Amino acid sequence: MNESVSRFWNNRPMIISGPCSAETAQQVMDTAIEIAKNPQVGLFRAGIWKPRTKPGMFEGVGAPALAWLKDAKAATGIPTTIEVATAAHVELALKHEVDVLWIGARTTTNPFSVQEIASALDGIDVPVLIKNPINPDIELWVGALERIEKTGKSHLGLVHRGFTEFGNTIYRNAPMWQLPIEMKRRYPNIPLICDPSHISGNRQLLQSVAQTSIDLDFSGLMIESHITPDEAWSDAAQQITPAQLSTMLLQLIWRSAKSESEHLHESLDILRTKIDEYDNQLIELLAERMKMADQIGAFKKENNITILQSERWNQILDKILAKANQLGLSETFVRKYIEAVHLESINHQNKIMNNS
Ligand code: PEP
Ligand code: MN
Repeated sequence: MNESVSRFWNNRPMIISGPCSAETAQQVMDTAIEIAKNPQVGLFRAGIWKPRTKPGMFEGVGAPALAWLKDAKAATGIPTTIEVATAAHVELALKHEVDVLWIGARTTTNPFSVQEIASALDGIDVPVLIKNPINPDIELWVGALERIEKTGKSHLGLVHRGFTEFGNTIYRNAPMWQLPIEMKRRYPNIPLICDPSHISGNRQLLQSVAQTSIDLDFSGLMIESHITPDEAWSDAAQQITPAQLSTMLLQLIWRSAKSESEHLHESLDILRTKIDEYDNQLIELLAERMKMADQIGAFKKENNITILQSERWNQILDKILAKANQLGLSETFVRKYIEAVHLESINHQNKIMNNS
């Protein structure tokens, strides 16, 4: 790994930026030069083969852009990264000295494609970033990581770009933070980078998504930027200018996972002990609640009545949501919580009624 790539890899935060797509030699060069004015940005990105949902959309300029990226690197000194989706992409990228490869969200969903890329990379020690699959299936993300890991890479990273969700949400791709949090728990030593551009799908949400990732102790950010974002050939709504990127990076509040101060540690420990106690009580109460559900199941079985009593369930829901509101808890959270508890309670009753 050359010096500029290792500087990028070892610095925190790791900042990647550049256009969604390479469009013209001029656009790549101009964007790279503007980005290079900010020393925080350590890696220049550009998509050259674009996986688009429907045919007829701009699918990237392809191989000719490899030379543009090489020129941009020569002019600015910033190492480069592109998305690869096939063995042929890998071969061309390496031939043109692309420094870091990334596997896109649609590719991560497909083990055949990931394996094809892995085989093309066998024994070649180039850094690879793996975006989460578009569907919230953590094992697919893990599987892609393992396939690439097996080929002996010393530098692997994960990119969180959000997940497809049906229906209207404020996000283009829902962040579902519990998934990257779980990846971080399983792979504490692999850098986890947030891509707020593809999560947000617009400029307004970018900063708050980026801030959330920082507060969750992510290792860095991949943010799309373009010299004239409104005229971008792909993902125009979410791209910002390099100058806007610099402002945003300044406005973000960078926090660290650990504090040096003893006193702060002690105060945090006291609060954490309380949280542990509450968690313990919550679990014990839940176990008691389920025992009650077992008794109710036995009663319903004896009297031959159904598990679900819609009227009762409505009453529970109304009461709990009113109480939650009084206590300042979010309705979305409490609804999710009580629905999960209710479902588990039905499972308990079902076992009692049908398994013995
Ligand atoms: C991209 O980074 O431009 C891209 C296509 O991303 P994703 O694979 O996350 O959709
Ligand atoms: Mn994009």
